[in-house]
Amino acid sequence: MRKSYENSHITPGMMLSVIEEFDAGKNTYVDEGDVRSSVIGGSTIDFSDRTLNVKQKNPPMIPKIGDIVVGYIDMLFGNMISVRILYINEKFSKSGFSAIASTRMFYSGGNYNSNWRERSFKGKYIFKVGDIIRGKVYSLLNSSIHLTLDDKDLGIVYTICFSCGNEFTKVPGGLKCNSCGNFEDRKVSIDYGKESFTSLYDKQFLNL
Ligand SMILES: [Zn+2]
Repeated sequence: MRKSYENSHITPGMMLSVIEEFDAGKNTYVDEGDVRSSVIGGSTIDFSDRTLNVKQKNPPMIPKIGDIVVGYIDMLFGNMISVRILYINEKFSKSGFSAIASTRMFYSGGNYNSNWRERSFKGKYIFKVGDIIRGKVYSLLNSSIHLTLDDKDLGIVYTICFSCGNEFTKVPGGLKCNSCGNFEDRKVSIDYGKESFTSLYDKQFLNL
């Protein structure tokens, strides 16, 4: 008896019961005596007050201000980069959101007062398509996700040498290629090169 009213695949408008049996509880409505769901979710019966409730399923994770995201740079335009988001607060995101960030960080909040900020004014730091970066959401203005990279744990977490395709080592002020010695002046995160990031670099080409 009870089981037939408990369904984990409820869609909006689905008839769940009739009011003679159960009252309309959370996320439900009554239409001509039928109790129907107003959301996607799963139904439960509360026998103490004979109500039928629907627990809403989690909507897709949408980045919020303050969230930390990790993704790869899929486009460069002017002083902006576009970042395809792969992780939101360390949870994998399949939703395919893109965020934007300025390669000049002077307008962002943050209290990271290193000379990175001053140097960025000169436009010396570079970003390249494919760089794996970590950013923090600071604005959702105009339906765009705006990231700042302006903190010591933000910035590039992995990339490869543009000249020869080999691994970089983090050095003061940027990255140095282990193989050809190429130095690039980059905004690098404090934990650059962790193994979890190196595997992401390869995955970005696999059409996640
Ligand atoms: Zn190299």
